[in-house]
Amino acid sequence: MNKPIYVTQPYLPPLEEFIPYLEKIWENKWLTNNGPFHQQLEQALCEYLGVEHLALFTNGTIALVTALQTLRITGEVITTPFSFVATAHSLLWNSLTPVFVDIDPATCNLDPEKIEQAITPRTTAIMPVHCYGTPCDVKRIQQIADTYGLKVIYDAAHTFGVKYKGESILKHGDLSVLSFHATKVYNTFEGGAIVCPDAKTKKRIDYLKNFGFADEVTVMAPGINGKMSEINAAFGLLQLKHVDDAIAKRGELDVLYRQGLFGVRGITCLPIPAETKQTFSYFPIMVNTDYRLSRDGLYEKLKEHNIHARRYFYPLISDMPMYRGLLSASQSNLVIAESLSQKVLCLPMYPELKLSELDQIVKCVSGGVI
Ligand SMILES: *Cc1c(COP(=O)(O)O)cnc(C)c1O
Repeated sequence: MNKPIYVTQPYLPPLEEFIPYLEKIWENKWLTNNGPFHQQLEQALCEYLGVEHLALFTNGTIALVTALQTLRITGEVITTPFSFVATAHSLLWNSLTPVFVDIDPATCNLDPEKIEQAITPRTTAIMPVHCYGTPCDVKRIQQIADTYGLKVIYDAAHTFGVKYKGESILKHGDLSVLSFHATKVYNTFEGGAIVCPDAKTKKRIDYLKNFGFADEVTVMAPGINGKMSEINAAFGLLQLKHVDDAIAKRGELDVLYRQGLFGVRGITCLPIPAETKQTFSYFPIMVNTDYRLSRDGLYEKLKEHNIHARRYFYPLISDMPMYRGLLSASQSNLVIAESLSQKVLCLPMYPELKLSELDQIVKCVSGGVI
């Protein structure tokens, strides 16, 4: 049996490069609460990503919860069922009602043509996801938001470094939320951030992630403890030096997968998004009905060869017990999302995936001998 190949493997720089950062922390004895590495990383990420303001968080989920609190979102929020559970969970943690809208099969993102019919007098925001790093139709979504007076908060967990029409995708909407979890393109072990357009909003976010403290004696809201520690921030600074190489390797693998799977009956790759600089966070394929196995059949077959693909995103968020009672969660409202969640399979994608391993995966999918 070959050694297991997981869907992702975190990228770690050489350990000795991290030691000097640790020595600094031991020397400073400043472990958290906006320490020197935290400040440096916020600055460095703004420059790297090409955004004005960014607030670091302990993880992406707490950042999503805080983003909603920052804008005082109430009532109903339009969102996608085809995402990681944290997208919708962040709404429940704010006592908001998710309203699920179907997705566009070409992008796996919220279908902007279906947003308007889901708006009610209680709607205050839209929370789309740039799924697998493919940009949403940001222009159309903003038009709808402007017409109805809604806020837009992007769950941008898959879009580290993605550029659309030459600019950071994170500049769209009112806020964008990143995740730096170990499995993402760029990681700080655990971590996340909110990208915001102005210093005033950044200040409010910084209060909210520190229990709501505006100064020593003023607590402005029931904020949470969402602060990133110095160890995570230091690792982020080091990781940032290596992230371009990691993304380049992912890009090479993406090309090889597309070449290898081209023409395999019943398998389709997602279209390459137009005018986008991608960072290749995932490699999803669709296993269609004319493939020789079911999607789950292929998933099991890969597993027999110790290749652990993942069914992202299956089941749909709207099919989970805490959501399925909602009117908008009905399968007839989410036909495309239901269908894609039955077909999708994410193949292993990480910088250190060997070409021989990729060949093995491609052979297994295309029915060759491995
Ligand atoms: C990873 C992820 C999150 C959650 O981020 P954490 O940092 O793990 O809390 C939220 N939304 C999406 C779409 C994700 O992929």
